[in-house]
Amino acid sequence: MSILSNCHTHTEFCDGRSTAEEMVLSALDKGFVSLGFSSHAPQKYDAPYCVAPEKEDAYCAEILRLQEKYRDRIRIYLGMERDLFSCANPDRYDYYLASVHYIPTFSGYASVDGLAENLANYIKNELNGSGFAFAKKYFELLCGYAKAWKPPIIGHFDLFRKNNSKLHFLDEESTAYKDMVVQVLHFIRESGAMLEVNTGATARGYMESQYPNDFALSQWAKLGGEVIVSSDCHNAEFLNCNFDKMPALLEKLGFDHTVRLGANDTLFERIPL
Ligand SMILES: [Zn+2]
Ligand SMILES: [Zn+2]
Repeated sequence: MSILSNCHTHTEFCDGRSTAEEMVLSALDKGFVSLGFSSHAPQKYDAPYCVAPEKEDAYCAEILRLQEKYRDRIRIYLGMERDLFSCANPDRYDYYLASVHYIPTFSGYASVDGLAENLANYIKNELNGSGFAFAKKYFELLCGYAKAWKPPIIGHFDLFRKNNSKLHFLDEESTAYKDMVVQVLHFIRESGAMLEVNTGATARGYMESQYPNDFALSQWAKLGGEVIVSSDCHNAEFLNCNFDKMPALLEKLGFDHTVRLGANDTLFERIPL
């Protein structure tokens, strides 16, 4: 089964390279049945990557305009990617992805997926060089977010793997790390959130595999958790990047279906793999 939908789409309203309409045209070209926009919600730190607060209305208006214009051809949803430290209220959106991109430090924030050099300095100076302690802090924030907000979707579950692929601060095969992942997954399962299967970093050449990694996904399948595939798209050309590989991978890891944004009036719908 083809996925034919993407729930994690950035545009020029934040740090994407394509306009919202270019994304819709790309989705139509690829035969999508639905498309969800998820601009980075307004926040104070690293604001240039996000929708400016004064542009939030314009963002919503443009997505609603496209929803109307293309309503006979594709179902369009208004969403956002809301960082834990964003000040935005998700109530006016159809759905949101809950993401943790930053860890508070003594002097501000460390970016989880930002410059590797900065992250290496933070781990060295504030965590005695322990990459495990860093992953633990990240997961604590993610669990707190899931518990407090009960978001529909958790974005890029193990985002720090992007910099781990360069810095090697953590052994993802170690028993200690795997035990922590299982604990975190149990916790998130209780919140009711879905996990996003995010191919975005593979599209941009940062990573060879998706978030979450195969181990985490296999454990999530055992817990009966739901997954929704996305490309964390910043460029219309790559809207379905590596989607063709996901059904077979998910099946291998223990899933028999995935979730996508509904083609009609159901926000989320299951599709068999
Ligand atoms: Zn993100
Ligand atoms: Zn994103």
